[in-house]
Amino acid sequence: MLSRIAHKHVSLDIRPEQYDVVYQYLFEAIAEELSEVITPEIVDAWTEVYWLMAHALIKLESGLYSAAASDHPLAPWVVVAKEAAGIDAVTFTLEPADDTPVTPSLPGQYVSVTVRMPDGIHQVRQYSRSASAGTDTRVFTTRLDADGEVSPALHRDVQIGDQLILSNPCGDITLSTGDSPLVLASAGIGCTPSASILRSLADQGSRREVLVLHAESTLERWALRDQMLEDVALLEAAELELWLEVPSDGDEAHDGFMSLANVAIPENASVYLCGPLPFMRSLRSQALESGVPAERIHYEVFGPDLWLAGS
Ligand SMILES: Cc1cc2nc3c(=O)[nH]c(=O)nc-3n(C[C@H](O)[C@H](O)[C@H](O)COP(=O)(O)OP(=O)(O)OC[C@H]3O[C@@H](n4cnc5c(N)ncnc54)[C@H](O)[C@@H]3O)c2cc1C
Repeated sequence: MLSRIAHKHVSLDIRPEQYDVVYQYLFEAIAEELSEVITPEIVDAWTEVYWLMAHALIKLESGLYSAAASDHPLAPWVVVAKEAAGIDAVTFTLEPADDTPVTPSLPGQYVSVTVRMPDGIHQVRQYSRSASAGTDTRVFTTRLDADGEVSPALHRDVQIGDQLILSNPCGDITLSTGDSPLVLASAGIGCTPSASILRSLADQGSRREVLVLHAESTLERWALRDQMLEDVALLEAAELELWLEVPSDGDEAHDGFMSLANVAIPENASVYLCGPLPFMRSLRSQALESGVPAERIHYEVFGPDLWLAGS
């Protein structure tokens, strides 16, 4: 969990001195909100826990910052392509807008994207790499959340030639080395990290056994359909199974939600999950029941990681 948080912090350029600020306001809030129950002993205990975590995170984050290609984790990038991906997603391709050294990204990683909103405020969101298009290029695919703030701005306002601030690539859910089999299970826009892993395997001409499982509402909504189908076809030992909530006549897909009931998980497979939390909870339980050990099940959460806190 700490590694996951450290990666997110680094993508936001969080620095050690900010832990003092968080401590101050968090503890002022605790003192105010819990004034009837809080005692000096409780404050001391929480202070100790806070700083234990903070120092562990500062150490992890310092390692991540120093492994990057430059001291500037955030840099301007210019949009060089903006293409529709399915019916409600857009793929952005960006190139460096200055000479900040570029930290290479690993398949499965994400960047933080800072967007200037119409009111002048800057908002930050994370987007997973969705393809590999050279070391000096970042590619991400964002699905429109019409009720959200940043994805509508990206879809509506950001055009070719515009600059966005991007972080160095972060995230510890990346393609494992070796030749053991892989299961890439995704739902909806959760296909982006799977697609980047798949593209990287195709680029390498990998012979690994890869089982791609994807769930979507309709075939047309599958954002990276062409890219993923192309890469599955290129790979020697890749197969794909699709689940559609609303299949049309002729779609080669299972009906409804994804289920592993009739799926043969390859021996020694590592399983990568990405999609809404209920999807990942269900798939994780099913993978465990199929005999996949917990340490070989990896997942990326497209939001605050409430899974660990709630499980
Ligand atoms: C590691 C990571 C990787 C990601 N990769 C991708 C990716 O590859 N592609 C992609 O499309 N997305 C990805 N995401 C998700 C992305 O970062 C954004 O969360 C997403 O684009 C929505 O952002 P938004 O600003 O449009 O919506 P937001 O403004 O963040 O709102 C999201 C939703 O919450 C609702 N909401 C907001 N405030 C409240 C409230 N107070 N109460 C109730 N509901 C509320 C909004 O109405 C909206 O429906 C990723 C996230 C993470 C953490």
